[in-house]
Formats: sequence, C-alpha cells, structure tokens
Amino acid sequence: MSSKKHWSPGSDVAVQSVERSERGGWIVSGVFAPNGICPDCGLHSRRRHGWRRRRLQDYPAHGDEVTVDLAICRWRCQAPACPRRTFSDQIASIARPFARRTSRVGEIVTHLGHATGGRPAERLLHRLGLGVSDDTVLRQLKNRAQDSGESPTVIGIDDWSWRKSQTYGTIIVDLERRVVIDILEDRDVVSCTNWLKRHPEVEVISRDRCGLYAQAARQGAPHRMSTLT
Ligand SMILES: [Zn+2]
Repeated sequence: MSSKKHWSPGSDVAVQSVERSERGGWIVSGVFAPNGICPDCGLHSRRRHGWRRRRLQDYPAHGDEVTVDLAICRWRCQAPACPRRTFSDQIASIARPFARRTSRVGEIVTHLGHATGGRPAERLLHRLGLGVSDDTVLRQLKNRAQDSGESPTVIGIDDWSWRKSQTYGTIIVDLERRVVIDILEDRDVVSCTNWLKRHPEVEVISRDRCGLYAQAARQGAPHRMSTLT
C-alpha cells in the first residue's frame, strides 16, 4: 500500500504496520496519540504506566475484514486528591468504551439495521466484508437508541424484523429528530402500552396500519394524538 495513513481509523492514530491476518483479512497495527488526561480529574499526567491494546473491527478493504490493533497509553494520575490511580487514554474519536468496532463501523451497522432489519443487515454487512451477527445489529441499535437523551414528542411505531425475517420486534422512532429511540424485542400490545405510559412526553404517535399499535396507543396514550401512516 502506498500510504499507511490511508489505513488509519482516525487522525489520532499513527499506523505502524499493515499485515495479512491468518483468516485472510488485514491487521492494522497503530498507536493512539498519547495525551495523558485523567478522565476523573482532568489533569495532565506525565507518568506513563505502560500500554494496553484494543482490537477493533474497522472499515473493510476490498471486501476483506480489517482489524485495528490499537496501542493505547496508560498513565498514573499524579493528582493527590484524585481517586483514580491509573488510567488509559480515552479514544472517543475512534471507538466507544468496550466497543468491538470503530464508531464509524457502528454507524453503518446502525443505519443498515434500521433500514433493513437484523437478518438482512447481517447478510449485507457480510457481503461488504463486515462480519456482524444479527444479535450485534440489534444490540447496536439499542445502544444507540439509549444515547438520545432528549424527550421525544412525535414518534413512529412499527414492526422490525430482527432474526430470519420471522421474529418481529417493535421499533420506535423519534420522527422529529429522525433517530431510533427504542427497540422492543417483541411485538406485543402490553410492552408497547407500557412504553407509552413511561413516556408521557409523547404527543403524536404515527403507527402502522395493523391494529396492534392502535390498541397500544389507545391504552398507553389515550389522550394523545394517533395517526395512521
Ligand atoms: Zn486523576
């Protein structure tokens, strides 16, 4: 490859090597630029405490999987009052804590999962060189849904197939901000009704044509406006 830079998952990562993996994909080894800022007290440390590594699935290359093997600096916090003794640099520009894939891959999984459902998304992602299970698609959608801290007032409720086009859950979308706000793992009047009762801020509900969500809207949100889509 002409430039290692092109393999970097973000501007904070310096790529050291790009090699073929045993499984036929690519391993991109890189170092996250050390910053030494303690996540608890915010002070800058100068005392290094070794390294930790994280492996993250990244954008595929020519249909092959790409794994970023990232070295992240560890530090000792030098602030006497800080409860944290050691910490690793935060890599928020690349991936979320405990994530197994880069945030930019997570966004693609979320978009495809939202648009097509779990199993079709799994198949499409596999064709693109992104090995992701339908369970992961569901989890990714739920994680992202929990992120949106704002209170929705106009929502859409619809079916969402998440496994083999047979198991149906319920997807709830904030229609004003166009984001998924929750995924219910079943398609059930009771769970949908309970969700609406927990969200009194919802004023307008746009639902599917079948009667199930209409019933939930009547029971869970009797004074709110409900429209057919
Ligand atoms: Zn600290």
